[in-house]
Amino acid sequence: MKPRTRREFGCLTGAMALAALGPRLAASEAKARVVVVGGGIGGATVAKYLAATAPTIEVTLVEPKPHYTTCFFSNLYLAGLRSFESLTHGYETLAQRYGINVIHDSVAAIDPVAKTVGLKSGQKLPYDRVAVAPGIAFKYDALAGYDEAATQVIPHAWNAGPQTKLLRQQLESMEDGGVFVLVAPPNPFRCPPAPYERASLVACYFKQYKPHSRILILDAKDSFNSQDLFLDAWERHYRGMIEWLPAQFTGGIKAIDVRERSVKTASETFKAAVANVIPPQMAGQFAQQIGLADQSGWCPIDPVTFESKLQPGIHVLGDAASAGDMPKSAFVANSQAKACAFAIAESLTGSARFASHLFNSCYTFLAPDDAVSNAISFEPVAGTIKIAHSFVSQVQESAETRRRAAREAQGWYDTFTHDTFG
Ligand SMILES: Cc1cc2nc3c(=O)[nH]c(=O)nc-3n(C[C@H](O)[C@H](O)[C@H](O)COP(=O)(O)OP(=O)(O)OC[C@H]3O[C@@H](n4cnc5c(N)ncnc54)[C@H](O)[C@@H]3O)c2cc1C
Repeated sequence: MKPRTRREFGCLTGAMALAALGPRLAASEAKARVVVVGGGIGGATVAKYLAATAPTIEVTLVEPKPHYTTCFFSNLYLAGLRSFESLTHGYETLAQRYGINVIHDSVAAIDPVAKTVGLKSGQKLPYDRVAVAPGIAFKYDALAGYDEAATQVIPHAWNAGPQTKLLRQQLESMEDGGVFVLVAPPNPFRCPPAPYERASLVACYFKQYKPHSRILILDAKDSFNSQDLFLDAWERHYRGMIEWLPAQFTGGIKAIDVRERSVKTASETFKAAVANVIPPQMAGQFAQQIGLADQSGWCPIDPVTFESKLQPGIHVLGDAASAGDMPKSAFVANSQAKACAFAIAESLTGSARFASHLFNSCYTFLAPDDAVSNAISFEPVAGTIKIAHSFVSQVQESAETRRRAAREAQGWYDTFTHDTFG
């Protein structure tokens, strides 16, 4: 059945996920061991779904941080529309309800011959399968003048946590009349609409508290995700406040001057009161270090099992994976994690194989009561992943439709984080 509306699509995807979860997996004699690297959206989901559906598998989740802060909805925090605490989630339920062995440490190495995962503390964890979901790393060498130390002055705020708080503090202490310069990255990167959602919500904050301030987006690209929806919203909500300059206009971003807080393009240098540089991206550092990434910087995977095409026995999911048409989003990481969990369970316990159902569903805020959404299903085709069906919001939607999407988004956040962290 082909879904005609977003609501129908949601029902369809929910039913499919439940159907896939239905039967419990077959028991085997000895417990197989799966180690999951990274307790973000992808890692937490694969750990939870393995533990919940395959009781004969012993699941260990390794994550350095005691709490996870979601990037999604962090733009609402930047605009003063949500508390930082409301974005923060612990691992207690995964440990207590699902029996996952949660270890707060970093994975330093994987030995595929001895079949052990080595932690920074020196501990070694034996495994039968490993799932790696380390998120993204930044290509600092691609932007002259910008490195990890510079993020303490000019934050990227593209991993939620202290960086997000720093950017919020800078926006709060900025004088009215200043320019907020946002450098948007080249494709592919984490969450394609998010830089423009950030510009929209910061404009919403400025409109109320610093009405003479402006936003300048210096883009590494010539077009961006949902551009028509954003341009329409900027005209309706924030006329004259947001200026977007594509690479073909500026000649591209050439350097960042941290001391001057300015961004140099091929044609001009732009001085900022507050700057937010979102650097070019690649798969998380750990994936690079152990040879899971190819020359593209991302990790090639089998589109059904998410097993690495470079390192057999190791699965890669979430933003780090090179997954065809699938964008790098939390919903995608969660969806891939479920497909990966079922594939791992099948390989270790001989349980029934489920066809992988891959989805993305995303809400984007243009203003607090104006949100757009999309819902896309994907399928493995000829060694990669292609879009099968899609629903995307349109420019001419009514104000009531947009208000409803904004309300639904709040519910989505609660349901989604519950699905991931228990
Ligand atoms: C501003 C913004 C808004 C967004 N909005 C949305 C949205 O509305 N909807 C949506 O679906 N997506 C959204 N996203 C995207 C979403 O946040 C990411 O796609 C998602 O977090 C990817 O999940 P992941 O598991 O791949 O990586 P992450 O969630 O980043 O998790 C990676 C984890 O791995 C851990 N790790 C790294 N290395 C190691 C190691 N060596 N050992 C152990 N652990 C390690 C890290 O500590 C981290 O916790 C947004 C992103 C941004 C930046």
